[in-house]
Amino acid sequence: MIASFPIPHDDESLYSMIARYRQRIRHPSIQSLMQELFGSSRLHASSDFSAKLEHLSGILPLWYGISTDRLTNDRTLYPFYSPFITKTQALDLRSRIHNSHERASGAFIKVRRGSVALSERIRYCPTCISDDRDIFRECYWHRLHQLPGVEVCPVHEVWLEESTALARALGGWHKFVTADEAIGDAVPRPLSAHEPGRETMLQLAKDAAWLLNETSLPSDPVALWRRYRYLLREQGLCSYRGKVATKELLARFYRMCPPVVLARIEGHAGRLTSGRGILSLVRKPRGGFPPLYHLLMMQCLGKTAEEFFGMPAEPADFGSGPWPCLNKLAPHYRQSIVTKVSIHIQKDGGRPVATFSCRCGFRYARVGPDWGPLAQFSFTRVEQYGPLWERTFRHLWSTPEHTLSFISQKVGIAEQNLATHAARLRLPVWRRENGRAVIPGRKRTWRGRPERPHLATIRAMRDAWTVLCSKRMRITVESREERRLYHWLYRHDHAWLTKQCIHGGTKRALDIKQRIDWEQRDKFLAQVIRAIAVKRSPCGRLTMNRLIRLSGQRHLIHPNLHRLPLTRRTLLEIIVSHNPDE
Ligand SMILES: [Zn+2]
Ligand SMILES: [Zn+2]
Repeated sequence: MIASFPIPHDDESLYSMIARYRQRIRHPSIQSLMQELFGSSRLHASSDFSAKLEHLSGILPLWYGISTDRLTNDRTLYPFYSPFITKTQALDLRSRIHNSHERASGAFIKVRRGSVALSERIRYCPTCISDDRDIFRECYWHRLHQLPGVEVCPVHEVWLEESTALARALGGWHKFVTADEAIGDAVPRPLSAHEPGRETMLQLAKDAAWLLNETSLPSDPVALWRRYRYLLREQGLCSYRGKVATKELLARFYRMCPPVVLARIEGHAGRLTSGRGILSLVRKPRGGFPPLYHLLMMQCLGKTAEEFFGMPAEPADFGSGPWPCLNKLAPHYRQSIVTKVSIHIQKDGGRPVATFSCRCGFRYARVGPDWGPLAQFSFTRVEQYGPLWERTFRHLWSTPEHTLSFISQKVGIAEQNLATHAARLRLPVWRRENGRAVIPGRKRTWRGRPERPHLATIRAMRDAWTVLCSKRMRITVESREERRLYHWLYRHDHAWLTKQCIHGGTKRALDIKQRIDWEQRDKFLAQVIRAIAVKRSPCGRLTMNRLIRLSGQRHLIHPNLHRLPLTRRTLLEIIVSHNPDE
């Protein structure tokens, strides 16, 4: 049990604490120090990770209140790496930190290094150091300043400096150097306002600081990849089939992070400079990649680390539920009550399709992703209408007073499609009284009309018609109304209307007929035909058509032949006498 282990400062690394402890109790050798703290004198030490923390936390007094997990999360760089490695790798790394003295596995080393250069010496921010000295009368190594890729202090906007202390040492060669020993008086170098990539570097440092304090982020590289895909698609950098516009993406990346910054971080031939580092993130992940790649990618897509990890692990193309029910005949129309949704990807086009099922039986599908929050009130197709809709539709359809346009508005279906639904529900489709079906195509809106209107309606229409007809002079509105009534009665009460016309209830229909004296005309036309036959005595075979054409009265005779018995007889007589062979 050790009693005088230093109380950690904010963001102090474990390395720094051990260095302060060593200075405080003046251990005779590093080996004995390691033996005391970690139970092994042959341990590797570095400024970023440690090992055998279980032993250390076991010998700290209880009042110290630091568990192995807290040591790992708060004093090592574990939280900076863990969100970007697989769950297995994270567990492996954690168990090694806790109770092994071996080095981390090869896969993790790759994640840690990638193409990113790790600083050989422990770094610090001169302003942070002088602030610490003012407040605590001593200074310490900050975890944030040791992160690969972080080059500036996000608080003071100055460049980080390298100290004389080595960041990593092997076996018995390492030392634990305190910040006070290694750092003299350093003059801070402020970041120029015109420094290329200034904003990127500052945001990177802020994101890294946020990650260090966020210890509950899951290790799920696939979720990261899904979020990248979603953001790329949203920003027009990726098709629905998954084809990434690499040229545009890299152009955007280099605009945000100029090559001079990349060269400082990884030299001139690294994976970020060539673009491979960023492009590897948009492919389905097979291993881990350095956190720096991810942080730069997030910035490139316009997200801070906090915003990015705040996105759902499987970004919803259709927003988060519950979703509205779009059954126009339900009392809960457009209310967000639908929680049952299934999403699949289209075979051709690769776009996501969501099927929403409401408890009222209404089921609709929409091809996504949604273009905005209002898209949830639209659907691509209805897959099932459900009992509530069908019951209400049946009622509307069998109420004769309802016009088709009224029903159409009520149920939210085009008039011409109503009959299809009526047929599907085995409802009667309207036919005329005389038994002839309405000509489809000419007046499509008639198709599927319900049975004859109510007697009361017919009576009201008849009365209105009679009143209008009794008027001698009509104003424009009345004439229009008369036309409307005439057509309505013609359609629904044809027999009665015809009778009215004959009885002189209205002169309208009969006036036209009575203006022509057909008997007179018949006699006249018969004379004309006879005169033609005599006068022109045409040669060759004579047909009825030819004779009518010769008379010059074809427009009068042809359509009205059934009204002209005399003319007809005359025509036949002439033809027979002219063509005696037939
Ligand atoms: Zn600082
Ligand atoms: Zn519903």
